[in-house]
This record gives sequence, structure tokens and C-alpha cells, in this order.
Amino acid sequence: MKYFILFGPPGAGKGTQAGAMKQRYNLCHLSTGELLRSEIASGSELGLKAKALIEAGNLVPDEVVEGMIEERFRKTTGVDGFLLDGFPRTIAQAEALDLILGKNGKKVTAVVSIMIPDELIGERIAHRATIEGRADDASPEIVQNRINTYHAKTEPLVDFYRKDGRYHEIDGVGSIEEVQKRIFDLMDRF
Ligand code: AMP
Repeated sequence: MKYFILFGPPGAGKGTQAGAMKQRYNLCHLSTGELLRSEIASGSELGLKAKALIEAGNLVPDEVVEGMIEERFRKTTGVDGFLLDGFPRTIAQAEALDLILGKNGKKVTAVVSIMIPDELIGERIAHRATIEGRADDASPEIVQNRINTYHAKTEPLVDFYRKDGRYHEIDGVGSIEEVQKRIFDLMDRF
């Protein structure tokens, strides 16, 4: 089993690229953001708790997403690996992931990081807002809070994974096809 982390700031194109990656490498795509949005849509207790945090652009507690990921790892069959999208987002989540995988003698195969400059984030999210209608894409203040949260809590993961050579960066500026080719050229090596 391979465990890929799809990393990058909000609006980098992780969700857009995930579909093709999932197909080419027979991976289960696990987006914690999508899982949380479907909890909200179903009106579950977890969804109710997460809604206000998500809509304000804050992170939900680590234990919530760690539990979701562990459950999906346990239940998913018939794939060659997992594509984690939007998880881990904090050092604590990355450490928890290492523990969860370590229990079964596994580890993160590679981090595929799609990088775009901050100036492009606002532009990409404004475009997505017209298509997907996500509550947390709707206001510039909330988007700015998500960018700040990314820099403060998620960006430290770059060093965490770089230390042991698992971190691989892709330039996320360009057309969807151009970025996809860069990703495939990298992932074909694993
Ligand atoms: P995303 O779809 O990845 O942009 O996630 C949307 C929102 O869901 C984030 O802004 C957070 O509020 C929440 N979320 C998604 N993944 C995580 C995570 N790994 N840890 C904490 N909160 C998360």
C-alpha cells in the first residue's frame, strides 16, 4: 500500500488534480474537507460541531480528522494506496498519521506538494466560489484567515517531511494539464 499526501495551500488545485491521480494509481482519495462537508450536509452531530469552525475558516480539532482517516484506512479495500488531501494539516496530525501507519508497519510514501504564491490563492478561490458555492470561499476575510492558518499551522509540515526526504514540490502555476504532467512525472517514480 502506498500513502501519498497531497499538500499545498488552499486553492492550489489539490481537489482538481486528485481525480486523475486517483485513477492513474488506483488510489482511494480521502479529502478531510469533503468528508467534513458531507457530515455537515447529513446533519450529523460531528457535522454540527464542525460547521461553525469550518465556515469561519478555522481548523477542526485534530482528533476529529484523525478518527475519520483511521476509520477510512480500516474500511477501504481494493486499492493500491491512499491519496490524502487536506490531511495532515498540523504537526500533531502528521505525528498521529505516522503512529496510525506505524502500527501496521507502514509509512508515508511521499508528499506531493503543489505550490502557488499567495497572490494566486485569492484569485483561484474567487473563481471556485462561482462554481462550488462553498461557505468558506465566500468572504475575503474568511479566505484570508484560511491562508493565515495555512502559514501558521500547516506550512511547518514542509520541514517535517523534508527532513527525511519524503517532501516533493511541484510548481502549481500553469494550466491543469501542465500541473498534472508535473505530478505524474513525479509520482511515476514511486
Ligand atoms: P479543504 O476542503 O481541505 O479546504 O477543507 C475545508 C475546511 O475543513 C478547512 O478550512 C478546515 O476548517 C476543515 N478541515 C479540513 N481538513 C482538516 C484537517 N486535516 N484538520 C483540521 N481541519 C480540517
